[in-house]
This record gives sequence, C-alpha cells and structure tokens, in this order.
Amino acid sequence: MLKRVLIANRGEIAVRVIRACRELGVETVAVYSTADENALHAQLATKALCIGPARAADSYLNQDALLSAALASGCDAVHPGYGFLSENPEFADRCAAAGLKFIGPSGGVIRRLGSKSAARTLACQAGAPVVPGSDGPVKSARQARELAGQVGYPVLLKASAGGGGRGMRQVDRPEGCKEAFAAAQAEAVACFGNGEMYLEKLIVNPRHIEFQIMGDSQGNVVHLGERDCSIQRRRQKLVEESPSVALDSRLREAMGAAAVAVAKAAGYVGAGTVEFVLSPDGAFYFIEMNTRIQVEHPVTELVTGIDLVKEQLRVAAGLPLSFTQEQVRPCGHAIECRINAEDPGQDFRPCPGRTEFLHIPGGPGVRVDTALYPGYEVSPYYDSLVAKVLVHAPTRLEAIRRMRRALEELVIEGYPTNANLAHLIMYDPEFVKGQYHTGFLDTHLERLLELARTCDRLTEEEEG
Ligand code: ADP
Repeated sequence: MLKRVLIANRGEIAVRVIRACRELGVETVAVYSTADENALHAQLATKALCIGPARAADSYLNQDALLSAALASGCDAVHPGYGFLSENPEFADRCAAAGLKFIGPSGGVIRRLGSKSAARTLACQAGAPVVPGSDGPVKSARQARELAGQVGYPVLLKASAGGGGRGMRQVDRPEGCKEAFAAAQAEAVACFGNGEMYLEKLIVNPRHIEFQIMGDSQGNVVHLGERDCSIQRRRQKLVEESPSVALDSRLREAMGAAAVAVAKAAGYVGAGTVEFVLSPDGAFYFIEMNTRIQVEHPVTELVTGIDLVKEQLRVAAGLPLSFTQEQVRPCGHAIECRINAEDPGQDFRPCPGRTEFLHIPGGPGVRVDTALYPGYEVSPYYDSLVAKVLVHAPTRLEAIRRMRRALEELVIEGYPTNANLAHLIMYDPEFVKGQYHTGFLDTHLERLLELARTCDRLTEEEEG
C-alpha cells in the first residue's frame, strides 16, 4: 500500500481523502494557502505545509510548490481531488517524473480525454453513440454555420477544453452563429487559455446521466451504475441521485457497457466518470469523460457500499480492484444536495463569511461531507461549495423524505446558502414524480424563489 499521500486540494474533498487514508493506515500531508491556515483539512492531516498565498494560482495551482512539498515530506503519492490540478496532464506527468504516484490516470490518458472534441472521436471509435456534430474541431463561425445547417438547429458550440458549463453557447438560428462563436471562444480563451471549439446538436430536454467507472492497472474496468444529475442551474449540478428513474435495466446495461468501452479504449486506470445526455426518446449520447473523482461520488458510494477513494488508493498502489462487475450490486436510493455559500435570490452571488452557527444533520441514512466547523470563515478565494448533504434509503420516496428532514435539521448561519432552494426542490411535484430534465431548474427557479421568499416572510412574521 501507499505510505504517505500529499493531498493537493482543500475543503471537503481534502477531508474526504484524509478520512480514507486514515482508515487504510496511510499518512497524509495536507497543503494549505495562507487563507486556509485554520482550515479543517490542515488540522486533520498527519502533517500540514503552507504552500503559498491565498490566490489559487499561487498555491493550490502552483505545481512547483506542490511537488517540493511532496518530496520534502517524503510522500510517495499525490491525490489531486477534483478541480485545481486534478485534470492537468502536465501535473500528472511531473508527479510521475518525480517518482510520485499520481492518484488518477496517467498524463497521456488525461490528455486523450481532456480535449472534449478528441474524446468524442475516441468514444466514436469505441462504438459509443455521440451527439451528432462536428468531426473534430470547428475552426470558424462560418464552418460552424455550415455544419449546423447539416445537423439541424438548435446546436451547441462547445469549447474542447471546457468545463463547468463555460465556453458553451446555444445557437437557434444561422444568424446567431457568428456572435455565439465569438462569445464562446472568447470565454474559452479567458477561462481555459484554449479557444478550440466543436459543435454538437442540442438534445432538447435531455437528462444528464453519468456512469461511475473504476479501472485498475491489470486492465480491469467496471462501472458502478449511474447518477442522474439533471437538476442543474446554468449547466452546473445542484442535486444528484442514483439510480435514475429514467433507466430500466436494459438501458442501464447498454449505457454501462458503452461507458466501460470508452474507458477501456482510453486505457483508463483509476476513478472516472463517463457523461451522457439521454434524450426523451430513450436515445443516449456520450458527451465527455471526467478523469477525476467527482463532487457527487458519494451518491454512488451510498448505493454500492464501495469506498471509491479507498479504491483509488488501492489502484494507485498497483493493486487490482477489490470487486468485479458482478459484485457491484447497487441497493436502495441515494440523493445528494450541494450546499453553496451563495444567494439564490441575487443571481446566486457567492457569499463568503464567518460560520456563526452550525448544525449538521445526522440520524439514519444521512451523510454530510463538509469542511465547515463553527467559527470557520468561508473564503472568497475558492469555490462556494460548503457542504454536501446526502441521504440513502430503501426507496426513492423514502430518500426524498429523508432529504427533506435532513435539510430541515441543517442550520448554517453567517451567510446565505441555497439550502432552502434544495429543500423546496424536494417538494416539487415534478421532482417527486421523477419527471424532470436538465431544463427543470431554469424553468422553475422563479416560482421556487418566490415560494422561498413567502416562507421567509411568514417565518419572520411568526417570529417577529
Ligand atoms: P462541462 O464540462 O462544461 O460541464 P458538458 O459537456 O459536461 O460541459 O455539459 C454540461 C451540461 O450541458 C450537461 O450536463 C448537459 O446538461 C448540457 N449538455 C451538454 N451537451 C449537450 C447536448 N449536446 N445537448 C443538450 N444538452 C447538453
């Protein structure tokens, strides 16, 4: 097994990795920026090293500082978490060159899948259905317009290097191509330093269905079932669940097989996620593969009983997966709500601040992954995700009821969060019936926010 792991991340995912390491008897080295001196991950690790100033570019993205910290503290591996350098092929290569095991796929594999347009080609070769669209990159607005005419409007212009819904524009008419291409490309250059674009037909009202994959260095690749992540705001996930009500066993098998085929074609080792859109007519299409542990991985852990982070560590140490495809037997239903320090009433503006009061829900079937503690100062420098509230129950309806009560127990004071919005979603008739698609939240947001305002006003009146 590994001896000592440097965790090149912060927040709840750093804490999550430390927990897995401790249970396996693996030592941990946390790194922190000056803004994170009092952060939980720095306190829970075996050892903690300051790697630079608050700005991520100077600390959590500083490859030199991370590599020196890992080597100076005698680590034999680096866990990148999600975000930051987790999908940076150069960092994976540099870890390997320094004799450190990068806990994830090799730089070569990350490169192969990191360009979404190249990943599309790979998925095609692996026999997985892809959304009709361009063969490789689209060079100009004019070429985009030509291609869009062939596949039919509406289309999506997407950045090959894109992520988090950025560098993406919907185009409904030929006249819109020029402006959308320029805007999407400019955003891609600004966010990812890479303006390569490609084009896909827009699947109308799809569900976002993703499959969790694990591969080992012996060549085994298995999938651990799906997560339905269709509750999104501007293409960012807010609620995830497994299993998806939209899949029957035949469709699950077909999509799982396609996901495994893509991962095998890429020579995949470690934890990864193959993402699809599922059209209302039952057709599914590959959209991308994420080469890291995902925010929503605990949803899969709850239904399968498999600890994905421990499995990542095993695989990085060269051990085979501890289970076969047949041994993956999902059980019950799990839901995750992402709790962000943000104000849904003000266009989801991030709202960092001091955690004045905190109560974390508990009881049967509840799991909360967070790095919060009372008095903790949420920093404006990083992601606004402060907690992930998860529930597991025998049926979907029981899971929904459990999530309602868990969110009722949750108290975070000091800054606004989206917890009320998540709670209202758990009461929405369409959500409860499972009849939703990726447009759900954008369509219902105003109504839900109005409901939230009314609830707040009534509470205030009652208390006042
Ligand atoms: P990112 O890496 O920026 O998250 P993705 O390619 O994963 O980008 O897409 C993000 C979201 O956009 C998906 O979850 C889905 O809701 C939507 N989406 C992406 N491609 C399509 C498509 N071709 N048709 C319809 N929706 C899509």
